[in-house]
Amino acid sequence: MNLLDIPAGLWAEKFRELGEPPYRGRQTAHWVFRKGVTDPQAMTNLPPSTRTRLEEEEMLGIPSLESAHISVDGTQKLALRLADSPVIESVLIPRKGRMTLCLSTQAGCGIGCRFCRTAAMGLIRNLSPSEILGQWIQAMRHLGGSGEPSTDRLLIDHIVFMGMGEPLANLDALVVAIRSLTHPEGIGLSPRRITVSTSGLVPKMRLLGEANLGVQLAVSLCAPDDLLRREIMPVGRIYSIAEILEACREFPLKNRERVTFEYVLLGGKNDRPEQARALGRLLAPFRSKVNLIPFNPFPGSPFERPEGDVVQVFADILSGFHITATIRKSMGPDVLAACGQLARENIPAAGSEYREETVS
Ligand code: SF4
Repeated sequence: MNLLDIPAGLWAEKFRELGEPPYRGRQTAHWVFRKGVTDPQAMTNLPPSTRTRLEEEEMLGIPSLESAHISVDGTQKLALRLADSPVIESVLIPRKGRMTLCLSTQAGCGIGCRFCRTAAMGLIRNLSPSEILGQWIQAMRHLGGSGEPSTDRLLIDHIVFMGMGEPLANLDALVVAIRSLTHPEGIGLSPRRITVSTSGLVPKMRLLGEANLGVQLAVSLCAPDDLLRREIMPVGRIYSIAEILEACREFPLKNRERVTFEYVLLGGKNDRPEQARALGRLLAPFRSKVNLIPFNPFPGSPFERPEGDVVQVFADILSGFHITATIRKSMGPDVLAACGQLARENIPAAGSEYREETVS
């Protein structure tokens, strides 16, 4: 049993079941979630018998940090090795005084979006909550240097589930991880600072809404009509844009919150002015904002990056429909850490060791 697979708010109860005082569960959670410590022997306020038990029963396992690639813009791509060998990636994005962590929810992905490098891996498997939260712990340690980041201020203040995988295809683990991220006995992050991105799995969008976690929702739309969307995102053959918009309407958001629609702009494919107008007409009646993401090419990718001022023209047309359109600055493309660029070969673990590389 891995404690990290249980929501942080239930650790005290779990310790009671294990015959330990419940407050030991809270103490352990504090070490793990606030200090980033998962070595039981370092948990100095636990009695030796509890430490030994946590250690011998391997209750606090997380993926190991294998490498960090640092982009010229400060973005850091972390590669983490899972216990059964696959490697996943997380990305730390420093921007405008914020530190955002982009988390993976699956090793690989089975959705097959044609603009995404992860799609070429196929789905290897879902991640467990401990593997999702382990990315956060390793990122905190990496930033803190010592493994003991300050508890006064979280070094990471925003989380986006936009790494490898379709988060809603691993909904159960995602929900447990979010409960630990937001619970005061876990990481204690405001749910408003957490964004879950989906390719538009309509039934799972409804289940996420029913879980009432208070998180933000982002949907990859990438086309103004179903015909084009099916070509770019095969998942469009299962769920139509109309069904997706209906599920977005039902998603529980607070007064001023809006669903974000992500639109990867593919040169000559979905970036024309008439397509911007069609998107504007589609979304104008809707409480939304649009995040335009100029395509980030990767080796062998079938699309081009939009040319010249195409992106700005597209944004201006949407603004004409009173839609807030932001253009996402590409972060970390030199280390293949930008949106849609995450992918790893399933390299054998033998002989691997942590390394850090800076691109300059
Ligand atoms: S964009 Fe997301 S859902 Fe689509 S293939 Fe890539 S990882 Fe999967």
